[in-house]
Amino acid sequence: MSETNDNIKKTDVLIVGAGPVGLFAVFELGLFDMKCHLIDILDRPGGQCAELYPEKPIYDIPGFPSISAQGLVDNLMEQISPFKPEFTFNRMVAGLEKQADGSFRVTTDEDEVFEAKVVVIAAGGGSFQPKRPPIPGIEAYEGNSVFYSVRRMEEFRGQDIMIVGGGDSALDWTLNLQPIAKSLTLVHRRPEFRAAPDNVNKMFALQEEKRLDFQIGQVTALAGNDGRLHSATIKGPDGDIEVPVTRLLPFFGLTMKLGPIAEWGLNLTENLIHVDTEKFETSVPGIFAIGDINWYAGKLKLILSGFHEAALMAQAAKRIVSPGERIVFQYTTSSTSLQKKLGVA
Ligand SMILES: Cc1cc2nc3c(=O)[nH]c(=O)nc-3n(C[C@H](O)[C@H](O)[C@H](O)COP(=O)(O)OP(=O)(O)OC[C@H]3O[C@@H](n4cnc5c(N)ncnc54)[C@H](O)[C@@H]3O)c2cc1C
Repeated sequence: MSETNDNIKKTDVLIVGAGPVGLFAVFELGLFDMKCHLIDILDRPGGQCAELYPEKPIYDIPGFPSISAQGLVDNLMEQISPFKPEFTFNRMVAGLEKQADGSFRVTTDEDEVFEAKVVVIAAGGGSFQPKRPPIPGIEAYEGNSVFYSVRRMEEFRGQDIMIVGGGDSALDWTLNLQPIAKSLTLVHRRPEFRAAPDNVNKMFALQEEKRLDFQIGQVTALAGNDGRLHSATIKGPDGDIEVPVTRLLPFFGLTMKLGPIAEWGLNLTENLIHVDTEKFETSVPGIFAIGDINWYAGKLKLILSGFHEAALMAQAAKRIVSPGERIVFQYTTSSTSLQKKLGVA
């Protein structure tokens, strides 16, 4: 467990990004007894694999002739479970500062503070950020009435909620928020959805029972004042309708942006972080970068490259977390001490 002290969470290694490479880093660091806390802006682990192509088979993971991207993430989560990593989802790592004692202070966009002896940036192509829908004036309501993710469900209780989109996020949140909403309207351009069929069926069943309202169309205008939304206009096949709305959740997909990492004073080329190939350390000692986010001569943006980088990074991180401790090279097949850590001996 990370220690909590005056609301500052302390851990050995803070990992920015819970994509496949950040997840595997927990394993390699765990074998050396280092505790990890991972922060990701997404609401679940898996990075690109979970967000962009969960059902596609991957054919170049060593030892797996074929494995779905989500299957790989599920296996990684099982593989790292003996090390009990902690996760903070739905948060962007915003600030990173080196302290006088050499440790790092990391802050999120919700002002949570973490302290770690080592920081591993496994941020892939950058943080996934929501696409803003083309609704005139929507910016004025963002943060008060318009949200692109649900961080605290309580903010939606008793509200007139409108959800826009036809993918998994739109349908998941329709089903999760409907029981606590005053009213819920789901808006999608057409009656076909990209979401899991079971959730689509549940949504249509709730519509039959008049517990939510599904509208085909597009949101074309918002009305309200002082950043607080009162209503939205939907342009549908039968013309315009105005619906009371106090919370709008558009799910129009995500783009990847490097975000605050660009401001951390690291040596970058075209948004990639320079590292050495011995330790995968950045230009700032104690900060490592592994996976798609790093650059070195010959770099290949492959999951297996990130796994290799994680193994070498862990050795170097151990020297920082436990200075002076001897590092012994061991195989998991034959080391009883490693097997104990994995809970198999
Ligand atoms: C369609 C497709 C198919 C692919 N097929 C293959 C394949 O067959 N084989 C293969 O090896 N590779 C494949 N790849 C590439 C592979 O997915 C990437 O190499 C891999 O995901 C990189 O892992 P990562 O952990 O470095 O980064 P990512 O998977 O990008 O994860 C990084 C995570 O960091 C988070 N993050 C970033 N910045 C912040 C921040 N400031 N705060 C909080 N969180 C942050 C992001 O939200 C993200 O979840 C494919 C990619 C795509 C898009």
